Amino acid sequence: MRLVRFNEGLWGLLEGEIVWETEGPAGRRTGRRFELASIQLRAPAEPSKIVCVGRNYLDHIREMGHTFGEDLPKEPGLFLKGPNTLADPGTSIPYPPFTRELHYEGELALVLARPLRQASPEEALSAVLGYTCALDLTARDAQRSDLQWVRAKSADRFCPLGPWLETELDPQATVVRTWINGEKRQEAPTSWMIFPVAQILSYTSSFMTLEPGDVILTGTPQGVGPLQPGDRVEVEVEGVGRLQVHIA
Ligand code: MG
Repeated sequence: MRLVRFNEGLWGLLEGEIVWETEGPAGRRTGRRFELASIQLRAPAEPSKIVCVGRNYLDHIREMGHTFGEDLPKEPGLFLKGPNTLADPGTSIPYPPFTRELHYEGELALVLARPLRQASPEEALSAVLGYTCALDLTARDAQRSDLQWVRAKSADRFCPLGPWLETELDPQATVVRTWINGEKRQEAPTSWMIFPVAQILSYTSSFMTLEPGDVILTGTPQGVGPLQPGDRVEVEVEGVGRLQVHIA
């Protein structure tokens, strides 16, 4: 199933080019229907927090200048983005004045349907509402210079998400790709993740209660780079679709 959030925060079920309004995400149908072309898609989540994995693909760890040798990270390196970072599919994101190095990071994201606390990996996966595409916008210069990553990772609209949630997806058997102005810059199978989705969720829930609507970003593969005003960014997760935004 494809779950969409649209217009003033309504939820619906996408079938072909028709959206059937539902009572909340994956809820009962209300009977109202909309043409996909006539609605405004929204970021498909209402999170209390967005939990992100910092280094989850070996090739990206190397490109950032870290050398782990044979010593892989033992636990997922997590950071948070606030709900203020959500941005809708298809929108324009202003290039923020505080950075000269705005970077793209294309990622597989997921949204939770149920609370998770001290969950096993198996329990964790069954609490996922659906999977989608995320752009983890990053002010790379601020990430280097600031003591913490709040400004670098959690500035307004630094987390475009969408275009919808796909409920039927094996999160370790898909491919993440990022295009800038139509040119492919990132491509990696999610089987390359150091920590699979079930393990990320189980680990996070061991110390933090995850709420329905919370979003998890699972890390970016090799190929990150700078953005310029005017760029068109597309993040694709195979089996989900493509998220597109413009940098203004
Ligand atoms: Mg990232």
